[in-house]
Amino acid sequence: MADFYDRVKIYIKAGNGGNGCISFRREKYVSHGGPDGGDGGHGGNIVFVIDKGTGTLLDFRNRKKFVAGNGGDGMPAKFHGATAPDLLIPVPEGTVIRDAETGKIIKDMSRCEPFVAARGGRGGWGNRHFATPTRQAPRFAKNGLEGEEKEIILELKMLADVGFVGLPNVGKSTLLSMISKARPKIANYPFTTLSPMLGVVSVGEGHSFVAADIPGLIKGAAEGLGLGHDFLRHVDRCRLLVHVVDISGSEGRDPMEDVKLIQEELRQYSEELASRPQILAANKYDLLSPDAAEKIKAEWDAFAASLGYEIVYISAASGENVKTLCQKIYGTLQKLPPITIYEPEYEKAPPEPKNPDDITARREDGVWYVEGDWLKWLMSGINFDDRESFMYFEKMLREKGIIEKMRALGIRDGDTVSLYDLEFDFVD
Ligand code: GDP
Ligand code: MG
Repeated sequence: MADFYDRVKIYIKAGNGGNGCISFRREKYVSHGGPDGGDGGHGGNIVFVIDKGTGTLLDFRNRKKFVAGNGGDGMPAKFHGATAPDLLIPVPEGTVIRDAETGKIIKDMSRCEPFVAARGGRGGWGNRHFATPTRQAPRFAKNGLEGEEKEIILELKMLADVGFVGLPNVGKSTLLSMISKARPKIANYPFTTLSPMLGVVSVGEGHSFVAADIPGLIKGAAEGLGLGHDFLRHVDRCRLLVHVVDISGSEGRDPMEDVKLIQEELRQYSEELASRPQILAANKYDLLSPDAAEKIKAEWDAFAASLGYEIVYISAASGENVKTLCQKIYGTLQKLPPITIYEPEYEKAPPEPKNPDDITARREDGVWYVEGDWLKWLMSGINFDDRESFMYFEKMLREKGIIEKMRALGIRDGDTVSLYDLEFDFVD
């Protein structure tokens, strides 16, 4: 219906790590050299970046699957497999990333750095890492780990200080084009504006605010009639609503009823939204006959007061009093809290599990598979390509009594031990 796209479910998958290589050095006169299999490269991450040049998620209409490249396999002679490049996904600022399964917020792409939404798998080690005094020719290497994958929902919630709400044809787009460089379509029929438009409104040097023209509010919008339901989501972040009304009743409606109707739609969408600060912009003042103007103004003053709103009489078309309205908006914004940036609803890092030496060991085909919550947690933070990190890992195994426990479970010197993606010969 709308040529605007502001909510979409997509699938993302980071690349798998490349496999480690099994290979032995070949030299002249040496029949069997040492292991020299290189490591697999890391899989590419899925990274979201803000693209300030776009205001819709339209690009996702035809593309819903994003898969980053896999790391290359390791090669003989210690050659690393290639690390796959990150897959960058540009989104408009204000895009909220949610987990499709739980609906929880993963990240609000607003005023932030690029965000890694799925991590590529680590490359597997080549056999050269697995040589030990008792095993000089390891005939195995590690496979790369799988990249993270998930289904996510992208939801655009524009970053606007002010939202212009009101029925179609009251002059919202005219007002926005009068006060900013935004050029929304203006025409004398409903639904001319199909996508919310943002405009920066300057009220003197260094002082400005961002306004959004929220189109398509009609009766029943909160239940999904017209385009209103989708667009109400965009007002979520607005600190102030400017409720535009055609007080001339040029469409043959009762404008006070219009205000109540919009108010009711806002309330049905969310009580909180309906109770947000508002200013009434009484538009098309120029259409009032001079005789009637004073009387109508008095009635509207009383009506606005009964609602607890300030009211400004304007003519968006001629620009009359529009500056006053902008100054009032700016002044009000100064007293309001800043735009909401949503916090992730996930814990940043998993908490440290208790009892480090709580491990299990089972033997299969001569290999000991050792597992434990704490161990897994520790390993997720270790970079096995980095010597210092690796030494820290060994030290922790000793200090936390894991080596001792492994002994107690029956593991002996020279046995092959597999800890998740790491495999080595047990030497105490
Ligand atoms: P929107 O649907 O609320 O965005 O309304 P538009 O900005 O598209 O305006 C609808 C119609 O009202 C257009 O024909 C405008 O030219 C006209 N209009 C808007 N503001 C005024 C005004 O202050 N005075 C008069 N006379 N007409 C206006
Ligand atoms: Mg419009």
